[in-house]
Amino acid sequence: MVRKVSDGMSEFFGWFPSIAYENNTCIFVANFANTCVFETKDGLVVFDVPIRQFGQKTFDEVRKITDKPVKYIIFSHGHFDHAFGYGPFVEEARKKGWDMPEVIAHENCVRRFEKYEILDKYHDWINKQQFSSLIKGGRDSVVYAYETLDPTIILRENESSYSFKLGEVNFEIYHDIGETDDSIWLWVPEKKTLCTGDLLVSSFPNVGNPFKVQRYPKDWAVAMEKMREKNAEYLAPGHGRLIEGKENVRDALSITAEVMHFVHEEVVKRLNEGKWFEQIYHEMLEIYPEKFKKHKILRDTYGSYRFAIHAVYRLYHGWYDSGNPTDLFPSKTVDIAREFLKLNSESKYLEHANKLSFEGKFQLALHFLDIIIKGTDEQNIEVLTDALKLKLKILKEKAKTESAFIATNILENGAQQIKIRLKKLQKSI
Ligand SMILES: [Zn+2]
Repeated sequence: MVRKVSDGMSEFFGWFPSIAYENNTCIFVANFANTCVFETKDGLVVFDVPIRQFGQKTFDEVRKITDKPVKYIIFSHGHFDHAFGYGPFVEEARKKGWDMPEVIAHENCVRRFEKYEILDKYHDWINKQQFSSLIKGGRDSVVYAYETLDPTIILRENESSYSFKLGEVNFEIYHDIGETDDSIWLWVPEKKTLCTGDLLVSSFPNVGNPFKVQRYPKDWAVAMEKMREKNAEYLAPGHGRLIEGKENVRDALSITAEVMHFVHEEVVKRLNEGKWFEQIYHEMLEIYPEKFKKHKILRDTYGSYRFAIHAVYRLYHGWYDSGNPTDLFPSKTVDIAREFLKLNSESKYLEHANKLSFEGKFQLALHFLDIIIKGTDEQNIEVLTDALKLKLKILKEKAKTESAFIATNILENGAQQIKIRLKKLQKSI
């Protein structure tokens, strides 16, 4: 169900050759999301399992290196790409008559799984949009909400850490919130390795995701700083390549902490100055420092600084974000568009949208096209078709230059919907 990713995304949704390090006792496997396996004399500890569709592939990679039984599976968080590909590991234990592995997760991960059951169809709908470029045809479910593996060791809300020892290797687990409220990360001192889950990925952090619930920029920065104190030599991120070398690990954690503090502090400052979202957003775009823009790990590959601004605002502010009472109980956009069309004809708006598009003012052109697309009568096929065609062209153009995966998918989805509508219109002629 998962397509090959474009070149730009391959560093994020990586299918890199597996890496065995520290005398082959640590195995890093990258299949869409990453799995890190630690071998001890008494068995294996598995940090994260991939998306269900890649469970077997990851399992096979691990079994090329070691045949020891899996004693622990740790979920960095309960997202579908980190906690659903457990099947082959559990099946093996069952077949061989081994003890079932302990499954470690945070209490909020259990709540998440309950939420997935309530919102089963909704999450499928959302994920098919967020990951549309990866999902062929969109028929197969990305994840089945009822196929969760119940944690057996649960970090409760009041517990910020949990430690255990296996085969003389210490495993230290910590809870911090960031991308999710169920995040846990792992420090294995004997293996000099930090496993971060999605608290660190090969992209600007996925904070302020347009489709998803609230995320926590400041706490995210704090998590990075706590991780940095461990002075790790290896960092296994949630997505992307293994980071090797103390300096590189420190740099990745430091710059991520720094950018999260930056976006948090600057938005908070503007909230205290009594500014509304639009002003804050555009000011924030202007002051974004070059050192963040240029840093490899903060590229807009998956998440985006633009989304992060929303995350901070939403953390502290309600939905009335314009300060304009017009927006408190707004009319339907269709009705507004119809009124605009009473003042001026569709062709006038189309002419103006074409002019704006020609000048490279694509976003403004879209607003004008929407007046026609929303407001005109279906019978005005000719002008409606022209408006839709121009919108399609602009969305394609914007998608081409957009680097953030989620934004690109939104633009491409929009283009796809227009193509479908255009086909229907042609049929109706
Ligand atoms: Zn992930």
